Amino acid sequence: MIKEKIDWANLGFGYIQSGKRYISNYKDGCWDSGCLSEDANVVINECACVLQYAQTCFEGLKAYRTKDGHIVTFRPDLNAERMIDTCKKLEMPIFSKERFLSALDEVVKANEDFVPPYGTGASLYIRPYMFGSGAVMGVKPAKEYQFRMFVSPVGPYFKSAAKALNLCVSDFDRAAPKGTGAVKAGLNYAMSLHALMVAHANGFDENVYLDAATRTKIEETGGANIIFISKDRTLVVPKSESILPSITRRSLVYVGDKYLDLKVEERDVSLNELDNFVECGLCGTAAVISPVGTITSHDRVYKFENSIGETSVLTSLYKTLTGIQSCEIEAPEGWIRRIV
Ligand SMILES: *Cc1c(COP(=O)(O)O)cnc(C)c1O
Repeated sequence: MIKEKIDWANLGFGYIQSGKRYISNYKDGCWDSGCLSEDANVVINECACVLQYAQTCFEGLKAYRTKDGHIVTFRPDLNAERMIDTCKKLEMPIFSKERFLSALDEVVKANEDFVPPYGTGASLYIRPYMFGSGAVMGVKPAKEYQFRMFVSPVGPYFKSAAKALNLCVSDFDRAAPKGTGAVKAGLNYAMSLHALMVAHANGFDENVYLDAATRTKIEETGGANIIFISKDRTLVVPKSESILPSITRRSLVYVGDKYLDLKVEERDVSLNELDNFVECGLCGTAAVISPVGTITSHDRVYKFENSIGETSVLTSLYKTLTGIQSCEIEAPEGWIRRIV
């Protein structure tokens, strides 16, 4: 895609090939110095560990254009740290925080023209990822890896932000108690695809997963954490070892407490207490917060009447966090990394 042809105001959440991506290869126990490449294709051996045994992980973050023309990213150090945690879990080599952040600066600067203009609601999505590129036949970690970071301009994740989502409680499980739910591994998404198609076939937008051990507690959806607001304006956030530690959710908890003076509870949330909540939202980098209208669990439908609207707590959280991300509201120390 030629950048002059991009219709910024009507961008969807899809892949648009940009100019350059960052690539570094790992071999003989160390990473090479890395470089930018015009080539969007990956060529690897047919027996690469990623292809046979799904040894791959990823991250996702965004760069925003500010009112005064700078380009900033939001808490990228946390993406770097989370990727390190994921790599440890998948027996992959670590790509250091310093290297991650300088690769980020490099790739965003190289694709400056693809950062959507301020005020369009669009942003530049950045996708760092790593995979086992070395060939393995028996089950074992690869000896060679590739780290890449590409960018794509994106619009809002859900087409109509004003429409509340309808979720269903999945009969499938996402993550086992001592499994991989808390790391950003591709395998967590591969197993969610069938469940997602079943949810769509039944007329729902997304699945809510329960804790696999007891199937009584709310965990999260396939690709976003879930948050609730109770009648007394408390922000309630499910806590579990198998929930992916969303940077958006962690930031919203801070914003709720420090900027909006909300009471915040991070704890077990059981399915049968959903009646106590008046707002529900999904949070993640892609959508920031998406309001949820209903959660259906077999023949029970839980309604969150107040999720949408200017006066909702979720709207205040959304406006404050996006204000911080675009530098219109003062950010806590260290949250904004200015690239240009
Ligand atoms: C990436 C992801 C999220 C959101 O995390 P952010 O850091 O806020 O983007 C939530 N749940 C799952 C399963 C994820 O993979």
